[in-house]
Amino acid sequence: MISRQTITHPFNRGDYVVGAPTPPRWAADCPPGDGPASLQGDVPSGAGRVVAELRAVAAAVHTDRDEVVLRTRDWWAGTSIGETDGAPATPDAVIVEAADEDQVAAVVRVCAAHGIPLTVSAGRSNVLGAALPVHGGVVLDVCRLNSIVAFDAESMIVEVQAGMFGDLFEKELQEVHGATTGHWPSAFAISTVGGWAACRGAGQLSTRYGKIEDMVVGLDVVLPDGSTASYGTYPRAATGPDLRQLFIGSEGTLGVITRLRLRVHRLPEYAKGLAYGFATFAEGLDACREILQRGATPACLRLYDAHESGTHFGEAGTNLLLIADEGDPTLVDATMAVVADVCAATASVTLDGDAVLARWLDERMLVGKSGDGFAKGPGFVADTCEIAAPWSSLAPIYTEVVEAIEAVPGTLRAPRTSRTPTPTAPASTSRCAATSNGPAAASGTGPRGTPPTTSSSGTAPRSATTTASACSAPRTWSGPSAAASGRSRWSSRPSTRPGS
Ligand SMILES: Cc1cc2nc3c(=O)[nH]c(=O)nc-3n(C[C@H](O)[C@H](O)[C@H](O)COP(=O)(O)OP(=O)(O)OC[C@H]3O[C@@H](n4cnc5c(N)ncnc54)[C@H](O)[C@@H]3O)c2cc1C
Repeated sequence: MISRQTITHPFNRGDYVVGAPTPPRWAADCPPGDGPASLQGDVPSGAGRVVAELRAVAAAVHTDRDEVVLRTRDWWAGTSIGETDGAPATPDAVIVEAADEDQVAAVVRVCAAHGIPLTVSAGRSNVLGAALPVHGGVVLDVCRLNSIVAFDAESMIVEVQAGMFGDLFEKELQEVHGATTGHWPSAFAISTVGGWAACRGAGQLSTRYGKIEDMVVGLDVVLPDGSTASYGTYPRAATGPDLRQLFIGSEGTLGVITRLRLRVHRLPEYAKGLAYGFATFAEGLDACREILQRGATPACLRLYDAHESGTHFGEAGTNLLLIADEGDPTLVDATMAVVADVCAATASVTLDGDAVLARWLDERMLVGKSGDGFAKGPGFVADTCEIAAPWSSLAPIYTEVVEAIEAVPGTLRAPRTSRTPTPTAPASTSRCAATSNGPAAASGTGPRGTPPTTSSSGTAPRSATTTASACSAPRTWSGPSAAASGRSRWSSRPSTRPGS
């Protein structure tokens, strides 16, 4: 029921572009500016001189400056800061669309032969500028690689091309094969399967189904010299390092993922939800830890602090824990019995689990609501940050992060959260920060070629490269209006909302 519901409520209740990148909400009112590039400096001359060669091997090539600007916009706050001020992020590039694996390899070979930088681009839903051609060159758009290639019903393994968008992938899986990946990033309908692997993504039900690295059985890649490699046609190995993991989370720096083989699951018929309130956030964390350490792995385990319990569920004053599971009734009932046992002993209030689950299901893919309720003005940015940490550190981290965010001048308390806990850090705190001025707090990797603003190697139990930034814009929100511009193919679609 939880997985089934997702294909009916995929993203902003259907307000998105199906089968192609969905631009961020600000883009609807922001035609390509003609100012200087905000995120490109000295771009070495390059792709322009091989356009004819690229046209000969690829499905489509775009060189028009405005088209390049529109086709490189992503969901990073850093991109919007320049673009909304008339300075496009990365206008100097050539966009190349490949329609199959051979075309991908041919484009890579052209770039390799001429020493041209190549940036892989798919759904462009990343929130840290990872698909921006900050060094110019070629942007290789893989969205036309968009089919399920094979389905092994006995092994429950699906083979899918990397550019297939999550909603179409899951719909076909569910409706044709009676299966689900169980991978539900909030952006699943505006991101691609290859993007999930390239960004080592996490979904809302990762406590049961795992993160993307737990799902990938194999992948095919085009390496930087244009040669191809195939890793993993078997579920496990007894020898050698796992080279599949090298490409998962590599964000397009080690090769182009063209095809993936993913472990999938029978589509569940049965689900159950419970909800409790805790006197403190730390007590809620303890309950999560106890549930998991007793061996129960409910698909959804989400703890909201007192403020967000109010804004999400009208339960201000308590720290709300939502637990939901789906699958075989025997297993779900056993899991929820452990949950009920733990929470009966520790929670201060038992809530209506069905109602809380129903509300979460209805709203879980509604992004951008972190900005609702605020009068948006110059420099307004709403975003999220995610943290993975050992149990022993989570409670103090929560307290310190909230204090640090609230100490930033101009920070507002925002009403939404959007991230799911990871299996080993199930109660990672997720909090929106809306700043109207003041310094930036950023984590994760920046656009290709810029150093990470913080490092997170190896100290947290899991990592997700989608860790977002909460930052303020030093410029004004002054993009020219769409009415004054030639409309792009995107500006005429229903407006979408930036995520958080
Ligand atoms: C509203 C919103 C909510 C989000 N929620 C989540 C969430 O819950 N969980 C989560 O994990 N993420 C989330 N994200 C972040 C984003 O959706 C993920 O990072 C996603 O996996 C990116 O996929 P994409 O297809 O959009 O890739 P892009 O943004 O196009 O690319 C991202 C990076 O992957 C590389 N890449 C893409 N495809 C390939 C390929 N085939 N081969 C090699 N490299 C490739 C690109 O070069 C780039 O470095 C969210 C984003 C938004 C805007």
